Amino acid sequence: MSIEKTRPPHGGHGDQGITVLLRRMHDAVALEASAQERLDHLTKAIASHVVADVCSIYLRRPGDELELYSTEGLNREAVHKTRLKWGEGLVGLVAENHRPLVTDNAPHHPAFAYRPETGEDPLHSFLGVPLIRSGKTLGVLVVQNKAARQYTDEEVGAVQAVATLLAEISASGELLSREETAVVGEMLHGPERLKGYPIVNGIASGQAVFLQPPAPKHKVFATDAAGEAARLEEGLNNLRASVDAMLAQNAGLSGVSRELLETYRLFAYDRSWKERLRSAVFSGLTAESAVEQVKNENRARLLQARDPYLRERMHDLDDLSHRLLRHLSGEKNGARRALFDRTILLAREMGPAELLEYDRNALKGLVLGDVSATSHVAIVARALDIPMVTGLGEAIDRCEEGDAVIVDGDAGEIHIRPTSDVIEAYRAKREFQSERQAAFVKERDLPAVTKDGVKVSIMLNAGLALDMPHLHETGAEGIGLFRTELQFLIGSQLPSVGSQKALYSEVLKLAKGKPVVFRTADIGGDKTASYMDHGNEVNPAMGWRGLRMAVDRPGMIRPQLRALIAAAAGRELYVMFPMVTLPKEIDDARALLDLEIERAKRSGAELPKAIKIGAMIETPAAAWRADLIAQKVDFLSVGGNDLAQFYFAADRDSERVQRRYDPMNPGFMSFLKTCVEKAAKTQTPLAYCGEQAADPVTAAAFIGLGVRSFSAPATSVGPFRRMTRSLDAGRIAAWLDERLPQPFETLRPQFTKFLKDSGVALE
Ligand code: PEP
Ligand code: MG
Repeated sequence: MSIEKTRPPHGGHGDQGITVLLRRMHDAVALEASAQERLDHLTKAIASHVVADVCSIYLRRPGDELELYSTEGLNREAVHKTRLKWGEGLVGLVAENHRPLVTDNAPHHPAFAYRPETGEDPLHSFLGVPLIRSGKTLGVLVVQNKAARQYTDEEVGAVQAVATLLAEISASGELLSREETAVVGEMLHGPERLKGYPIVNGIASGQAVFLQPPAPKHKVFATDAAGEAARLEEGLNNLRASVDAMLAQNAGLSGVSRELLETYRLFAYDRSWKERLRSAVFSGLTAESAVEQVKNENRARLLQARDPYLRERMHDLDDLSHRLLRHLSGEKNGARRALFDRTILLAREMGPAELLEYDRNALKGLVLGDVSATSHVAIVARALDIPMVTGLGEAIDRCEEGDAVIVDGDAGEIHIRPTSDVIEAYRAKREFQSERQAAFVKERDLPAVTKDGVKVSIMLNAGLALDMPHLHETGAEGIGLFRTELQFLIGSQLPSVGSQKALYSEVLKLAKGKPVVFRTADIGGDKTASYMDHGNEVNPAMGWRGLRMAVDRPGMIRPQLRALIAAAAGRELYVMFPMVTLPKEIDDARALLDLEIERAKRSGAELPKAIKIGAMIETPAAAWRADLIAQKVDFLSVGGNDLAQFYFAADRDSERVQRRYDPMNPGFMSFLKTCVEKAAKTQTPLAYCGEQAADPVTAAAFIGLGVRSFSAPATSVGPFRRMTRSLDAGRIAAWLDERLPQPFETLRPQFTKFLKDSGVALE
């Protein structure tokens, strides 16, 4: 596919037109004149380019007023006099909505505000475009015509391109006076509070770092076009060489991944892309600005594309532009930059493996886009105790690398460039939390028994040796789920038997006799290792993962079982299999385990004292037949993250769909209850190890359903024990029994009230 096929809108003048306009803008900005004169030249250039009767620039002033700064066509007396409030009139509406507004009958628009001093009475057509920088509106660019006419998409596109440049030069100091540039700077760099969703509790403060490095700072206009063209040429050559190298390195890739890389390469070599970059440079832009300009044009065009494939390609083009910008700045492509001592990492999306690559000591907080609480990156962040907030992809546009950021993982919000008051308030909050934590430590030896005498067992979820101290700090009874795949995700190749055994031995040693349930590697879904080829799967969460992959490719699970048997010599070994779907799969897994036991016996090695095997209940198929699966194993563990995902058919990684379906939905809870009862009939112990149990309200409900053993993240153990000791399991069961058959969306609000009224400790 070539970029050529889908050319962008460039205004009524085509490619040549925008180049001419850019050159005129360049000349206006380069004038030896006052800031006001330069601005007026610029306004004139834009007006004549789009054949408008009027072109005006309104800039945002302190107090969120929009002041007319320059005009071609309106009464000049109105400049610096006409001011509109945020949201007032059409101009105010454009600013407030962050969106262009087009109308062919401005005076009849409900938001129209009449300003006699401007003399705009006979103007009918109106096109207003916000000047946006770092996600904030800095002003509004307006074009107007006397005749009632609709501006074409192409015209809107051209004015938008100009507005982007205007916003950029307003902030860069190339257009406004020093004082006014400082006002813009304050607007861009003032304190901000953004509200998202709480995913991992806790508070962290530090400096912003972007997973995807931002474009290096640069000037917008250049004086030496030939020099810029030469820089562009060199940057492009380096970019192409690096894409070729990337392709060569991944020569083993096949299917979709290969195709994507090939497309990426095609883009890098696209001639029309190069031509458009060159033409922007010859119109007076720096090579960097040319890249931004062409990228924005492509974005505007591809955003309108109906074809999702084309829209997807926007990311490729963005990424390619980013790489080119880094080449232009001489940065080594892809080199991971040094982190601050206290880093808050921001990304629109991120996988668990990427998170594990960061230095644990420096990484203090995470701010992500559309990522849910049960996604694996969230689970890893929870295991590492890194406060995390999601739903904040926009945060990247709102701050710069190095800015101070506070992540409030309890409230689900972040503070960018916080004021001293906010910093102080959080210091006090942190102090209070450590006191609270200390109180939980004091309670760690108290038995987790409900008021009506029901014993509940609380274990820990873990995945790294680093998690093990929490076992003793929290007083948890053991590790109910050790996610062994984390070790598989960190490296660039399959871990050796020796390194697996070393990890398991260390974990068992650190457990000091408490039981540890090792879950065999659940690779697949969102936990893919770079060295594994999963083929072409559209739905990897329902694809070749967990036990399915293990029994098909024993070369992976057998060495792992070997390492587990060796590490547990002389002690009890608990092995659990993930993503069980049919009872027969347990037979297959057991057969592989038997082969390894035989092998260990033959070699004369000491065997574990006992080997207990468990099945995870993560698919509705397994939950439905829990009794049959139970007969083949020693214990069961409900993986509620996956079970809820498949019950609701709602991707666990997507915050958007996760928010729709609550595990406290009576349908899901009655499904769970049936599963618990099926296991109980066979007298097989059952635990619940989904992340949902980290929430004390949900956990209290599950106790009411008959779950008696849980495995949860370390931070939730203290509150869980306190909650258990303050409730009456029998009363909860009765309360739920009445409501489970009813069609509520969720029982959460009424159940929370019931718990509070009953004096159950939820804090
Ligand atoms: C689960 O699915 O609930 C579970 C515990 O396993 P994981 O989160 O690792 O998929
Ligand atoms: Mg799972």
